[in-house]
Amino acid sequence: MDALTAALALVIAQASIALVMTGAHLAARRERSTRYWAMASILIVIGVLVMIAGGGRQPLLLLVGNGCLVFGAIAQFWGLQVFYKRTGGRLGWVIGAGFCTLFALLLLTDAPKFARIMLLSSTLLLVLGLSVRVLLAGLQSRRTFGSLLTLGGIGLLVLNNIARIAAVLVQDPELLPMSQSAMRISVMYLVPLGGIFLYATGLLLLYFERLVDEKHQLATHDELTGLLNRRAIVAAGEREVALAIRNRQPLTVAYLDIDFFKRINDAFGHEAGDLVLVDVARLLRRTCRSVDLVGRHGGEEFCLVFPGVGPDGAICLGERLIAAVRGYRFRDRYPVTMSMGVASLSESVGERPWADLIHRADTALYRAKQTGRDRFCIAANEIESSGSDPASA
Ligand code: GH3
Ligand code: MG
Ligand code: MG
Repeated sequence: MDALTAALALVIAQASIALVMTGAHLAARRERSTRYWAMASILIVIGVLVMIAGGGRQPLLLLVGNGCLVFGAIAQFWGLQVFYKRTGGRLGWVIGAGFCTLFALLLLTDAPKFARIMLLSSTLLLVLGLSVRVLLAGLQSRRTFGSLLTLGGIGLLVLNNIARIAAVLVQDPELLPMSQSAMRISVMYLVPLGGIFLYATGLLLLYFERLVDEKHQLATHDELTGLLNRRAIVAAGEREVALAIRNRQPLTVAYLDIDFFKRINDAFGHEAGDLVLVDVARLLRRTCRSVDLVGRHGGEEFCLVFPGVGPDGAICLGERLIAAVRGYRFRDRYPVTMSMGVASLSESVGERPWADLIHRADTALYRAKQTGRDRFCIAANEIESSGSDPASA
């Protein structure tokens, strides 16, 4: 393969990625990262085409071509920053402008070609390094196939640029720009072709992984509180109940309802009511173990599933949850309380164990409301947690 074919292959690969990224951006315009990544691919395509057209001799075309390559890498970096919600200030512009100025100076002073290669490769290394930093910070929260692919692509590009700098430093005739050797074409074109292709594919994958995550999150989580929504808590609860029955493990379900929530809405407004729901959800999540399931069943009602907890643990659990909510004061003064019905898996399970459990917990909740609120009732043997004094519940 000669240099021109390799360069054209790079153009075709980048152009296809630019089209896909543009399509992804048009499908969801609020996602700015795809715009940057589409822009990056277009800039790289223009850069390579301009360099081919200039044949490495026209100074202006050399400046435009190399500038496009550097700004392409910077646009990929900007896209990553936007994707991981990081701010980078004007760093990209400073690097891009600095590169163009120095490159123009090298052209004006008729500096040797090696100096330009050094400048281009070290600038690209700097931008790639910054991109890796953003990517690694993003990887801390979650490692995905897309992020690993992106890292692999960047790794290849880093190696390629190090090899180019090394070739200039050691003046290896095999790798010098005038050489048409297979080694030079690999280093100058094929490795970056693979790297750029992996990098851009990784970015595309990162974007789709996020879309799938968001879709899953929307389908399974309540938007206001971030807890599992009704469908998800029912599905997860049914699964846990089936597992508990098969493994002969205990399991407890709690059904909670905020007391006189309508009054909070009436007194402080709906938005304040929403804040109370968010706070209560956080409180419940914090009070439960990580293996427990916490969901918003509807309005101001919550459903909790406690795998491994039997009737004995249920009392302790009820006390803990009711006490946790009782300690919470909305706006530091307005007391908020909850009533709760608790039901544990019994020896004799019917055909619809989950529905039976929920029904029993709901009935127990109704009893808690009837007997004064701010308390819990246990369904199994209808133990009432407290009488008229809520503090003992
Ligand atoms: P009880 O102690 O008997 O449960 O009384 P309550 O006032 O809590 O019960 P009721 O069922 O009469 O009222 C529930 C209220 O919850 C009515 C509804 O406007 C409010 N609500 C339901 N969903 C939301 C929500 O997402 N945000 C807000 N702010 N209020 C909600
Ligand atoms: Mg209710
Ligand atoms: Mg209520």
